This record gives sequence, structure tokens and C-alpha cells, in this order.
Amino acid sequence: MINEDVAVLTSGARSIGEEVGYKYAEIEKRHKYRFLFDPLRLLENQDFITSYAMGENPFPKSVEIDPSNACNHNCSFCIYHSMHSKERSETMQRSRLLETIDELGELGVKSILFVGGGEPMAHPDTTAAIERAHSYGISAGLVTNGSLVKPKFQAKLKKHAAYVRFSLDAASPELHLKLHQKDDHPRIIDNLRNLAAQDGPCTVGTGFFINEDNVHEVQACAELVKSTGANYIQLKSYSGVPMSTELQNEALKQVERVLDLQDDDFDVHVMDRIFANETHQVRGYTKCHWQAFKPIINADGNVYLCAQKRTNNNGVIGNIYEKSLKEIWESDERRKVVEELNLYSCPYCVHHQQNQMIEFFSSFVSKHKGFF
Ligand code: SF4
Repeated sequence: MINEDVAVLTSGARSIGEEVGYKYAEIEKRHKYRFLFDPLRLLENQDFITSYAMGENPFPKSVEIDPSNACNHNCSFCIYHSMHSKERSETMQRSRLLETIDELGELGVKSILFVGGGEPMAHPDTTAAIERAHSYGISAGLVTNGSLVKPKFQAKLKKHAAYVRFSLDAASPELHLKLHQKDDHPRIIDNLRNLAAQDGPCTVGTGFFINEDNVHEVQACAELVKSTGANYIQLKSYSGVPMSTELQNEALKQVERVLDLQDDDFDVHVMDRIFANETHQVRGYTKCHWQAFKPIINADGNVYLCAQKRTNNNGVIGNIYEKSLKEIWESDERRKVVEELNLYSCPYCVHHQQNQMIEFFSSFVSKHKGFF
């Protein structure tokens, strides 16, 4: 084989994943909300990256809060399932939740994602916390199963949140019941439609995790979501879990049809891993940098290194019922946990690309800097 043959063999689309991927690339350019889920958004935070790379210890600009570990659904595939058990299901005290927002406002945090743990709207004060965050100029996101986004909260969420995303992975009430063990699909769709219709800057969308049980309803669900007036659907597979060839092929067929729904009022976002089915990941960086960028404040008061350490006691860097967030951030306890973190034992990490980027910014020294 000569080099020219390699060039021919490796050009163009060589798999259905690449073929649909190229079609998606065309759609992506027309997104109203372009790069909505792109890890490269990190590059917008150059000042913070520089401060971190210089060895300072700035408090992060973004955090996640789990107001509740309880959930009114019971999905077998939920990675936080154990947190919804009778023994867990903690709810953050109202006063500590609101004080936490005050602390974050004073620390200069720019964005807070309310997520779980459990279902964030299972906490009665999540909407109030979002409103409070907004009063500090903080962008607040909410990821929810949607069933508790009640009419009384909808106008406030649309006004004060930056985004609300429903985790909706079925078009039919029957499949939803099977996946979530809860017969509330019509209510969720009503909530989605009514939220989207409210006045306010908040984007409203849905996220669909594709698996063997629901792959046949991807297209129907996207059509349903679009009919509610929502801004977008996000299609994704489970990170780090390989799809069988059959599942990936069926997912790609469905995705290809869904791309036709893209227009000026509705975005179709597809995560790369559906095209690549990539599960290989070697963490060659010197340490996890991401733990300094987005900690998790859980309903039990524990602060975790990152979203994927939520169920891991080794990832706890302090507790907000014992210390302020600033104290936790500057504590020996946190320093020790970070020092002892063994990357090899981390799960497949959704922040791998960010870690690679930060490693580069922190460590790049080369005599050949001018060449790229
Ligand atoms: S899973 Fe590990 S590598 Fe990934 S962000 Fe968390 S601590 Fe860092």
C-alpha cells in the first residue's frame, strides 16, 4: 500500500455513523443555540483557567446543587438510584439551600445547575433558590424529570432560569411507565408545553437517553417535543457504555429522521458519542483538573469533587452543615482528597476533554511554540 491509497481509503464517510454525522454537521451550523453542549465552552473562561494554571486556588465559577436526593420516579437505569432509597432521600434544609445561594453569589459564581441526586423539583424551594440565584446575576439551569414542574412554578422558572431541560425518553405513556415506573407522561408533556409558552428568556428543551427499550420511539418523541413549542431536543447515549451494533444502527436511523425537524424554532442536538460509539479513554493528564472547576453540593450537605463522584465517599471534600463553602474550598480536607485521587479508579469521565484542555494550558512548555 502506498501513501496515496491511505489518503483515499480514509477520506469521506466510511460508516453509517460518519454518514449521519456529516448530515448532522450541516444541521449543526443552523442551530439557533449553537455549541449548547460543547466542552469547548470552557475556553470562554480564560481568566479562570489562567488563575488555576498559575497555581492559585480560585473558587469555581460554576457549581451543581442537588436540592433533593428523593425522586418520584424509579428508573432502573438511573446512576444515582441508591440515593433515592428510603435510607437516603435527603432534602437540603430550606435555610441552608438559600444561604448556599447567598454564599455562591458572594463568591462570584456565574452559573448553578440544579440537578440530582434525586429529582431537584422534589424540593419545594428549588424555584425560590433559582429566583434568588438570578437576583445575584447567576445563570441557573434545571435538569428535571418534569413531572413536578407545576403550573405555580412555570412563570417564575421561565423568567429566572437560564434553561430548563426535561429528561424525557419516551413518546408514549406506556413506554414512559415501563422506564420510569410512574404513570405521569401526559402531565409531563402538559408541563413542558405550558412552561415553553410562558414569557421569559429561559430556554426549554428535553434530553433523550437512547437505549434498547426506547430506541424505536426517538423520532416520535422528537416530534412530540417539537409540537410542545420547546426550543430543542438533545439526543444522547450513555457515556462510556458501548452500544451494540444493532442499537447504534437503529439509533442512527432514528437520528437521521429527526434531523429533518431542525428549523428556525427547533434545534436538534446530537451528542458525538452516538456517531462514534467511543468508549476508549486513557487519562494521561497529571491530575484531575476538573475537580477545581465544578464541585457538587449534595442534599446531604456533602460537597463532592465532581458529578461522577456523587455516590463515592472518597469524593467528599467537606460538608456545608459544618463549614462555609469558602472554608471547604481552602481546607486541608479538600487538599488531601485531591492529592489522594487516583485517576485510574475514576469512571469513564464526561469531562475528559476539559481535563485535556486544562492540562495543556497548565503544562504546555515547548521550544517549538511557534509551530502549530
Ligand atoms: S470522574 Fe475523576 S477525572 Fe472525571 S472529573 Fe471526576 S474526579 Fe475528575
